[in-house]
Amino acid sequence: MTLTRRTFLSASAGLAMVPVFSGGRVGAAPLPRDADIVVIGAGAAGIAAARRIMAANRRVIVVEAASQIGGRCQTDTSTFDAPFDRGARWMHNPETNPMIKLARAAGLEITSAPSGQKIRIGRRYARAGETEEFLAALVRANRAIDEAARRSDVSCASVMPKEIGDWAGTAEFLLGANLAGKDLRDLSVGDKARALDRNTAIACRQGLGTLIAKLGEQVPVSLSTPAGRIVWSNRDASVETPAGKIAARAAVITVSTNVLAAGNIKFAPDIPKKTLEAASRLSLGSYDRIALQMPGNPLGLARDDIVIEKSDSTRTGLIFANIGGSSLCTIDVGGSFGRDLSAQGEKAMVAFAVEWLTKLFGSEAAAAVKKSSATRWNAAPFALGAISAAGPGAQSSRKVLTDPFGCIYLAGEATHETLWGTIDGAWESGERAAEAALRRIGALRDPEPEPRPLKQRRRSSASPIN
Ligand SMILES: Cc1cc2nc3c(=O)[nH]c(=O)nc-3n(C[C@H](O)[C@H](O)[C@H](O)COP(=O)(O)OP(=O)(O)OC[C@H]3O[C@@H](n4cnc5c(N)ncnc54)[C@H](O)[C@@H]3O)c2cc1C
Repeated sequence: MTLTRRTFLSASAGLAMVPVFSGGRVGAAPLPRDADIVVIGAGAAGIAAARRIMAANRRVIVVEAASQIGGRCQTDTSTFDAPFDRGARWMHNPETNPMIKLARAAGLEITSAPSGQKIRIGRRYARAGETEEFLAALVRANRAIDEAARRSDVSCASVMPKEIGDWAGTAEFLLGANLAGKDLRDLSVGDKARALDRNTAIACRQGLGTLIAKLGEQVPVSLSTPAGRIVWSNRDASVETPAGKIAARAAVITVSTNVLAAGNIKFAPDIPKKTLEAASRLSLGSYDRIALQMPGNPLGLARDDIVIEKSDSTRTGLIFANIGGSSLCTIDVGGSFGRDLSAQGEKAMVAFAVEWLTKLFGSEAAAAVKKSSATRWNAAPFALGAISAAGPGAQSSRKVLTDPFGCIYLAGEATHETLWGTIDGAWESGERAAEAALRRIGALRDPEPEPRPLKQRRRSSASPIN
């Protein structure tokens, strides 16, 4: 049966061209010595912050460790016959998600939400009654998490209702590994309960990596320029890179919590202990994507179909098939299973995907694979993981992470209380941090806005959407 109502995916959850700076490479413009505000990282948060600073007519420079813009939004446009989003893929909540408007304005194509979401039980699809049973199990699980979050910040696993019976493994996959890259025992009820509904899964046909790269076209970014050390005070900051130092009146840091906690950027004086602790408590979950080119539609699925498995554990995946009508299919894995698998390398990941598809669809699937690729975000040196997710007791760390120290402001998906783990959360956090930095340097006169009330969650009791 195809889920037709709110579905398990949502259930579980005019500037002139600027020069490209290039870490001191010959032929590129040299790194500027100063700026009003320096931004560390050219992912969604960093690009949003820089655009906001430019809109206020202040000088900004973004230093980016990698050789391209995008961070955890990367689109591979050359390997397959369709763009392959290696990181963020879906834009949720179309009524409020700014990325959809930005994508349209950038001339990119927005797809409609996939119409088919199916549950595979062995070699067949779930029947209507089974699907209803599963949706009811998700509603129960979500409700138990919400209720527990009002009392204390325990693990999601500790409050899973017994009545979800043999759907427990599937619920664990969707609500934990698929939503946050963590098993439910490693996920805080508070973080899960506050996560804004991730209903509707809308993609950008050219890819979300393409989108961030386009949005960054007008932004002065110095690629391959890692910030190694930041000397900061209440007055100013100096960002040290292999290509030289940049002096600024404020800095916005957007690197992932794992990069921050790993100490890959040194601070003088040291970064406040509470900030570093908050980053560690919001460590990144594991979420990876295995891409298979399978001409001839051996899975017999429609364009943009989404399939999950009724599984007794998280040793499972989420299929997105025939992407945009192409022969590209992807399998997403996450949580501790996904972490162990990705640690074994790309070959093992592809082998798992093929074996798993064979179990569910027969051996034709394996024979049809013509090309493959897999992400390994935990090993990506400038990300070190996929999505920040609070462990039990750690939900309050999100607020701590947004507290500025001296003239340093942290941004990035992990600093968003309700949209953590999303591209729009990262974007909004970048704009917010930029505004705070602009206010500090006197470039914005309006008083700091009251903290916005958490957006109302719109989960109906029938909705399994997380
Ligand atoms: C596999 C996967 C699937 C996902 N799916 C979705 C989805 O469907 N929908 C959704 O909304 N979100 C999704 N996300 C989450 C989304 O990608 C992130 O929330 C978002 O991209 C984070 O943006 P950011 O700017 O906060 O961080 P990042 O994108 O990590 O940007 C930080 C930047 O800092 C750079 N950096 C690191 N160290 C240094 C240094 N020392 N000096 C200078 N620069 C440095 C990094 O290279 C990076 O470019 C997914 C993520 C993954 C990994």
